[in-house]
Amino acid sequence: MRNQPRPPRRTPGIYAGDAPEAELEEVLRRAFLPTDFMTLNLNTLLLEIDGRRVLLEAGAGTTMGPNGRLFDNLRATGVSPEDIDLVVISHTHPDHVGNLRSTDGGRAFPRATTMAPSADWAFFVEGEPDLSYMPVPEEFRRRFAANIKQSVEPVAQGIELYEAGAEILPGLTTIAASGHTPGMATFLVHSGGDQLLLTADLAYHPLVNIDRLWRPGPDRDQEAAATTRQRIFDQAAADRMLVLGFHYPFPGLGRILRTDTGYSWVPAGWQF
Ligand SMILES: [Zn+2]
Repeated sequence: MRNQPRPPRRTPGIYAGDAPEAELEEVLRRAFLPTDFMTLNLNTLLLEIDGRRVLLEAGAGTTMGPNGRLFDNLRATGVSPEDIDLVVISHTHPDHVGNLRSTDGGRAFPRATTMAPSADWAFFVEGEPDLSYMPVPEEFRRRFAANIKQSVEPVAQGIELYEAGAEILPGLTTIAASGHTPGMATFLVHSGGDQLLLTADLAYHPLVNIDRLWRPGPDRDQEAAATTRQRIFDQAAADRMLVLGFHYPFPGLGRILRTDTGYSWVPAGWQF
């Protein structure tokens, strides 16, 4: 579900931290993309499993700029915030938890249980995280850390923490994917013979993190994140899985091919 107002402008180099500047510019220019900022989508997903409405990722709320389209889009499909039974978060960065808090400071999904990975909860919510690894100004980091605590505050009371790798519900499994954050999980949704892999923030944009394996600057443990990326991309390619990238251009769906030198992203068209 698209949840993207006017995205904040950040330079592409943040998401391709080890890319030579000229090469990065060339890649972007060849894709007819601007070289001075990168647009990231926020593709949340609504599932129905045995009559329960499950939202995967909450989206940014107002933490990254003006509020997004999540609530409007839910309403357009006939779903109100009160109808959501469960919200599962891949990791606790503000663009994934921002909508947990309503504008009046309450719970945006009043009936929902919220689930978050335990290692992220310990690091970002219970701890005072050292975010000096993030290639952004100090003032941004301070706001980032505060936004996390503020966003999850209304759901902290009843939060259910999961260990990455755990099955959430029949048909919804988490896959440990730490590196980007201590506890990040990716999701595998399966129904009959169909599978959908949600890669959370393993990659920000397919052009720079799949077609090229440049490393996102916001990855806390760069080596672990790179190993995780390769493990999960290999599995996606081997099983020819349908993949949903949280930040990829809408609708964010496609497949990952193994090539002689790495991987290639093959977008899937929007099905009307
Ligand atoms: Zn994100």
